[in-house]
Amino acid sequence: MKKLVERLVRDKRLDASDMGELLKSATQDSNVLQLLRDYAVRTARQQFGLGIYIRGLIELSSFCRCNCLYCGLRRSNRTAERYRLTQEEVLECCKEGYRLGFRTLVLQGGEDGTHSDEWLETLICQMRSQYPDVAITLSLGERSETSYIRLKRAGANRYLLRHEAANKELYESLHPDGRGIEHRIACAEALKRADYQVGLGMMIGVKGQTIEHLVEDLALIERMQPQMVGIGPFLPHKATPLGNEPAGDLNLTLAIIAIVRIMLPTALIPSTTALASLTPRGRLEGILSGANVVMPNLSPSDVRAKYAIYENKASWGKEAAEGLSALENELNTIGYHIDWSRGDYHIE
Ligand code: SAH
Repeated sequence: MKKLVERLVRDKRLDASDMGELLKSATQDSNVLQLLRDYAVRTARQQFGLGIYIRGLIELSSFCRCNCLYCGLRRSNRTAERYRLTQEEVLECCKEGYRLGFRTLVLQGGEDGTHSDEWLETLICQMRSQYPDVAITLSLGERSETSYIRLKRAGANRYLLRHEAANKELYESLHPDGRGIEHRIACAEALKRADYQVGLGMMIGVKGQTIEHLVEDLALIERMQPQMVGIGPFLPHKATPLGNEPAGDLNLTLAIIAIVRIMLPTALIPSTTALASLTPRGRLEGILSGANVVMPNLSPSDVRAKYAIYENKASWGKEAAEGLSALENELNTIGYHIDWSRGDYHIE
């Protein structure tokens, strides 16, 4: 296995069968996992030193027209409490985020039909003029190419659109009334053309996902060369069809993060909230697998519980914007610290 890991480090890729073998072995043999993580951490340190970028996450709306099987915000979930922030509320979050030191603000939300291009454009223009030195990241799902272009012109810089599952059948089983993986990828291509820094990614351990599917995900990531990659474990939400399924596996998640870091040395890879929600040490373990970004929650406190894509989602303490000193202390325990800069994607 050592040979395979060394080949991955050298070529930044592996053929599908080798990648499958490596993934299986990493979940069964802790030495293989550790070897991958060691290489990944070394790679991340060469690129970013011991600094971890922070992004302030503002959850715009819990209304969603989609019906993704895994997500607590799916439209068929009648028990979900819905809210939608006003522009004034979002700008209040931005003000607080800027004061706390965030230089990247992320607008994430369900696919809320009331978020017209005009509405978002007005909001983004205001953010851009009030905070010229801040990077604006969007994560608002599938929109038209025209829409992506308009929002880019209004001042957005980056867009997170996880591909969720590269395999067509798996994608369709998780998104029964979605527009398919081809459309999802077409959206990511449109974002690239519009000159966004683009983020892909997937959950680990969602129902029906096999190692072979993950190998396909890694091949897609290799082909698309995204600037950002979000990877976290699947976590069940009881009011969804996957409510009784087990959560994704920690070690498999860490192995995938490490492999993506080795494949894409300069990528921005968050140690995700899902990983921190899975286990208290999750955030640190993600960083010790090559992740270099943390995204604390900056949403107004009264709506945080309502943005429940899964249950027990961490949004307080070190996952909260107000908890930055606790986060800094936690990072210090493993020799890392917060990097307060904007943290754009760079090829050295
Ligand atoms: N509506 C936007 C943002 C979705 S929320 C979009 O479509 O891109 C951000 C991410 O949370 C999703 O891309 C998904 O990968 C993840 N997510 C959703 N439900 C989850 C669950 N139950 N467990 C773990 N991650 C989940």
